[in-house]
Amino acid sequence: MRDPVCRYVYSPAVLTARIAALRAVLPDGAGLYYAVKANSHPALLEAAAAHADGLEVASGGELAKAVAAGARRVVFGGPGKTDAELAAAASCPVPVIVNVESAWELRRLSYLAQRPVDVCVRVARASGLTGSHQMTGVPAPFGVPEEELGDVLALAGRLPRIRLRGLHLHAVSSNLDAAAHAAFVTGSLAWAGTVLPDAEIVNCGGGLGVDYTGGTEFSLTGFGAGLPADPRLVVEPGRWLVAPAGRYEAEVLDLKKNGGVWFAVLRGGTHHFRLPAAWGYSHPFTVRRQDAWPYPMARPVVRDAAVTAAGELCTPRDVLCRDQHVDELRVGDVLVFALAGAYGLEVSHHDFLSHPKPGIAVEHFA
Ligand SMILES: *Cc1c(COP(=O)(O)O)cnc(C)c1O
Repeated sequence: MRDPVCRYVYSPAVLTARIAALRAVLPDGAGLYYAVKANSHPALLEAAAAHADGLEVASGGELAKAVAAGARRVVFGGPGKTDAELAAAASCPVPVIVNVESAWELRRLSYLAQRPVDVCVRVARASGLTGSHQMTGVPAPFGVPEEELGDVLALAGRLPRIRLRGLHLHAVSSNLDAAAHAAFVTGSLAWAGTVLPDAEIVNCGGGLGVDYTGGTEFSLTGFGAGLPADPRLVVEPGRWLVAPAGRYEAEVLDLKKNGGVWFAVLRGGTHHFRLPAAWGYSHPFTVRRQDAWPYPMARPVVRDAAVTAAGELCTPRDVLCRDQHVDELRVGDVLVFALAGAYGLEVSHHDFLSHPKPGIAVEHFA
């Protein structure tokens, strides 16, 4: 008996090409980091470590993966760092910049560090951007409130072993408006000059968007055209760099029409690829035909119909895509979900129902 297809396929070559494309529109001297939380597979991290200036991490586990992948530099962010994580960052063999999220975290870092540590202060400053996850301009647990920034910068200047290098302003996720993103970056650079004139780093985070359902592209040229020639700029995207570097493939186990809706039941589902359910959208698929058919019985098939791609979990929420038209779909064909490289397997509930995990293949598809 053959195992049904259920796997991710990752392409480090695509990630490398995206890093190069983004680099080409950034000002000379700007820093480009890859946000590890979008996808921490070792083959992708090694590609990012080799081609970006460094890796952005948000936990001690990600820090260890970044070092193992050969990162030349690391930026360490995240609102809830433990003492062990701060100590690991402060003693890391690779140069680290810690994005400090509160006055208390700054005090703890100063107390725990055995040697001088480079720091940027994260500030919750309204960005004016809209995207899927708003991190500033609304109440959120990220960074220092703008009105307390002066006090925290002064504290950073006084505390032992703290070397204040700049500011951090990650604001949003999946913003598709490149001109607005450039305006946010430009405004942040200008504002940083007023609150911290000797800042060497103004880290504007990630948040470059991907449109999964098809309409728009984040315009890289539009973004680049709106940026000032400022070498203080650092960006650290995850999604835009790695989404096209992965696809998720799941075989059709069954086809049925229930309540007037055609369902394709998959070997796989939202426990492997949670993004569509988490965000409440239909992730488009293509059909890859598998002609081999091992049974003597007739092959179930649906033609010229809208099909809902449901997973193998015992919950009606296990749906990847609703009502997508197919010309023909048979049991044993494979649904291929492109743009699944970012926040795919990484954010999913792999162990729900104890189904086997998907495979992961590394192929340099382009
Ligand atoms: C998540 C995150 C990123 C990457 O965000 P994307 O939307 O994937 O580009 C960058 N910086 C910080 C601090 C983050 O939390």
